[in-house]
Amino acid sequence: MQGGFLLFLLFLLFIPCTSTVILEDYDVIIKSTTIIDGTGKAPFKGDIAIRGEKIVAMGNVKGNAPVVIDGLNLTTCPGFIDPHNHADLSIMKYPLCENLVMQGITTFLGGNCGDSPAPQKYKKFGDWLREVEKAEISINYAPLVGHNTMRRLVMGDDYRRRATAGEIEKMKELAAEAMENGAFGFSVGLDPGPGHFADTEEIVAIAKEVKKYGGFFDPHTRGVQSQWATDDPKEVNYGVFCGPVEDAFVGMYRGYAEAIEVARRTRIRTNIAHMDNAYMVPQPHPDSLEKAGAHATLNLVESARAEGIDVTFDIIPYEGNISGKEWMYWGLFSKSPALNWVYQIAKRSKKDYIAQLKTKEFRDKVRSTYEAGRLKLGMIHTKAWPYWMNYFKIISCKNKEYEGKTIAEIAKLRNTDALEAIFDIIVEDPDTIWIQHLDPRLHPEVIPVLIKYPYAMPCTDTRALPPELEDDFDVSPTAYGLYPQYIRRYVKECSILSLEEAVRKATSLPARVIGLKDRGILKAGNFADILIFDYESIKETGDYINPDQRPVGIEFVLVNGTLIYKNRTHTGRKPGKVIRHSR
Ligand SMILES: [Zn+2]
Repeated sequence: MQGGFLLFLLFLLFIPCTSTVILEDYDVIIKSTTIIDGTGKAPFKGDIAIRGEKIVAMGNVKGNAPVVIDGLNLTTCPGFIDPHNHADLSIMKYPLCENLVMQGITTFLGGNCGDSPAPQKYKKFGDWLREVEKAEISINYAPLVGHNTMRRLVMGDDYRRRATAGEIEKMKELAAEAMENGAFGFSVGLDPGPGHFADTEEIVAIAKEVKKYGGFFDPHTRGVQSQWATDDPKEVNYGVFCGPVEDAFVGMYRGYAEAIEVARRTRIRTNIAHMDNAYMVPQPHPDSLEKAGAHATLNLVESARAEGIDVTFDIIPYEGNISGKEWMYWGLFSKSPALNWVYQIAKRSKKDYIAQLKTKEFRDKVRSTYEAGRLKLGMIHTKAWPYWMNYFKIISCKNKEYEGKTIAEIAKLRNTDALEAIFDIIVEDPDTIWIQHLDPRLHPEVIPVLIKYPYAMPCTDTRALPPELEDDFDVSPTAYGLYPQYIRRYVKECSILSLEEAVRKATSLPARVIGLKDRGILKAGNFADILIFDYESIKETGDYINPDQRPVGIEFVLVNGTLIYKNRTHTGRKPGKVIRHSR
C-alpha cells in the first residue's frame, strides 16, 4: 500500500502535467484503422496512439485517451505535404488555411516561383518567420527564399538587365541570411519578372551559396508561361518575354535544360516546379504525340539522375487550368499590357467599352495587338498556341446554346473567326462568363506519364483561401480539391497509381525532397500530422462555376497531434508550426 503510494508520487514527479492527463495513457487514439504509412508499404490494420505533438505507438495499442477516433472503414495516412504552394503570400489573412485543410494538406512549402514575403527593406527573413509564428497558423509552413524577392530588393526597379558582380554578392548574402534563419532552399521564377533577366551564372552563384547550408533549388524554369518574344526589355511583361522568338516554342525545354545545368554544375538538390510537357507540338496532331513528348520530358530528368544529379519534380495533376472563371470582356485584355488602353476604358465604364466594341476601329485595334503577338488570354499566348480557341469555354451566357461550348466551336457555328466571335458574344451579352478550361501543357495523355514517375509529386500551386469565397472569380476548383481529385482520378478511376504509391508521392517523397525531418511517415517518434479519409467516397466536389466546395471523404485532419478538421468542419485550432531548416 505504502509502496504503491510512493510509486504514485514518483509518477506525479516525472509527469508534470495536469491531473486529467495523468489518468489517460494517450491524448488521441485512432482505433482499428487501415494504415498507409507513407513509405509506399502496403496498407495494414492497426491503431495509432498520440501523446502531445507526436505519434508514440502504432500497432495494437492498449490504453485509453480522451479522444478516440473510430478508424474502422477509414484509411489513415500522413497529412499531405504540398511542395508547391503560395499560401505564405496570404497566410496572415487566412491563417486557418481552410481550403488546404479540407483537402488533407498538413504542411506546405512556401516561397515558390521566386517570390517570398521576405526579405524586404525593413523585414529580414527571420523577422517574417517570427511574425507568422506570432500570428499562429493551422498547418505547418516550410519556407523557401525567393530569388525574385532578393533581386528586387538589391536592384530595385532597375532589374531589366544583368546583375553586376557586386549585386550578385548582395543576393548571396541575403540567401545566406535566409538559410541561417531556417529557409529550406531557394526558388527562382525565370519567366517575366525580376528573375527573367538573370543569366545562368547568377543562378549558379546563388545555388552554390545555398548548397553550403544544405539547402535545395526549386526552379520555376524559363518558358513555363506561354509567351511571345520581344527584343525590347521595356516591353517585357506578363505574356511577353525578352529572348529569341523560337523560345516561344522551345522555351520550356530550354528552361528545364537550364535548371538541370545549374544542378549539374553545383550538385545542388533540385526540384523542378510544376513540370509540364517540355515539347510543344503544334496542332492538329494525335494524342500519341503528346504522350511521346511526356516520355521525352522524363528522359531529361532520368538522364540527369543517371549522372548522379538529384533531380525531382512536382506537377499539378489536373488537365484543367488552375485559374478560374472570368468575365469574357475582362479576360480579353486583362492579361495583356499592350491592351492597357482597353482596360482604362473598361474601368471607367463598361457601357462605353461595349459601345466601342461595336465599332470597327476598336476591333481593328485589338486585332492588330493580336496579330502583333501581344495578346495573352488567361495562361495562353495566342501566337505561341495558335489553337488557343480550343482551350476556352463559355460557362454562362444569355445564349444557352453557347454554354459548355469552346470558342472554336462557337466560331464555327457563327461562321466567323475566333476573335470576331468573342467580340460579338461580348456585345450580345456583356455578362458572359468563360474559363480557360484546359491547360495545353497538361494534356490528358501527359499527366499520367509524368505523375507515375517515381520522383514526381503532386502539388496544388494555390494559396490560402477562406472556406467560402466572397468573389469566386479567377479561383480554380483545384484550390479546394486537388488532392481528393488526385486520389479519385489516378488511383480509383485510372489505376495509374496504387493508393500507397499515391500517398508516398504526397507525403514521404516531398518530406525527403524538402528536407523535413520527422514528418511524412507514420511511425512512433514522428510528428502526428495525420489524415483520416474514406477511400470509398473521397472526391472533389467543386467545379469552375462553384470552386469553393468541400471535398467528400476527408474525415479528420490532425496537425502536430491536434485535431483541426472533423465533420467536414475546421475546428478553429492553430497548432501549425513554422518549420525551420537545420543541418
Ligand atoms: Zn510557378
